[in-house]
Amino acid sequence: MIKKDKNIFNAINKYLTKKGHELYFSIYLSNYNGNEIYIRFDYVSKLTVYKIVWVDLKFFDIKHIEDYINVQTVTKFLALAIVEKLKKKDVPNRYEYNEDIIGDRVEILTYYNNHEYIFDRFLPLDLEFLIDPLALVFSYLPRSMEVFLHEIFGKFDHLEDVYNYAKPVKFNLLKGDASKIFKPQIIERGQKYYEEGRVHFLEKIGNSYFAIVEGTESYVVIINQVDDSHIRFWCSCKYNTFCKHLYAVLLAIRNKKFNNFYKLKYVGKEQSILEKITSYNYYLCMGHDEEHLLIVTIDGVIFPVKTIKNNKCLFEVVEDDDDLSLSKYIKDMQQE
Ligand SMILES: [Zn+2]
Repeated sequence: MIKKDKNIFNAINKYLTKKGHELYFSIYLSNYNGNEIYIRFDYVSKLTVYKIVWVDLKFFDIKHIEDYINVQTVTKFLALAIVEKLKKKDVPNRYEYNEDIIGDRVEILTYYNNHEYIFDRFLPLDLEFLIDPLALVFSYLPRSMEVFLHEIFGKFDHLEDVYNYAKPVKFNLLKGDASKIFKPQIIERGQKYYEEGRVHFLEKIGNSYFAIVEGTESYVVIINQVDDSHIRFWCSCKYNTFCKHLYAVLLAIRNKKFNNFYKLKYVGKEQSILEKITSYNYYLCMGHDEEHLLIVTIDGVIFPVKTIKNNKCLFEVVEDDDDLSLSKYIKDMQQE
């Protein structure tokens, strides 16, 4: 994360002032989904046009400002409509910090009436007057930045859960009140999954819990202790929200139902694709299907690899279950 460096902002301001830009309002996305974006809405009186300027501060060199500044001229009709609207509004400063959220800060400064609106991740509902200016500004930014706008408007679309999911949330893994994160029907279904024994593997590796939950198919769950008070929940299912698989694993963690993954070591001479994309000494494995070992990557992908190649298995079991079932399976496959 880049610390807000006043020098950078001053340098950009100086550069643009020289070009006749007057700053009307600015938006600074600070560590927003890991990005540092500075956006300005400027008036250039000499040309009587409004311009939108944006800078990706992660790729910025103060010595070559001109190479890193992006400028777009705004349709005058739209710009004036926004300006008129904003001038009429005089909403007091707002500082809405959310301690559940790490990063994702938005700082909006208005220079025509000197106000600050600072909030974390979501535009507060009562700052609705900022929707049009934000939408206009973002319509002039690269399309890849639209995701930020959608997320900023999350409260208005009732999609907070969707955006909060897979980001760190303030939560005590062992004692926290799960009903603050999980919906009642999800808790009910997750509890059922847990009781049906659908959490097949559960292991803590470093600061992360890895688990496999058997649903319609096998899902990988990763629950990561980000720091002392924040947890990141992630599941490979398609729901992209705090799902029953996550809740089932949470219960398994709280009830200490640990069950280690199989561990495999690659023993082939040639580098495998897996070795090329990871740099791991061993791989987590959740077992096998008819012809494949099912490797679980640290990103939560189930990766089937052929068990036998040229009559040989290129993986060696370094951790098996009590019945040595994976070693037996590999041995049987090699004899076939
Ligand atoms: Zn899930």
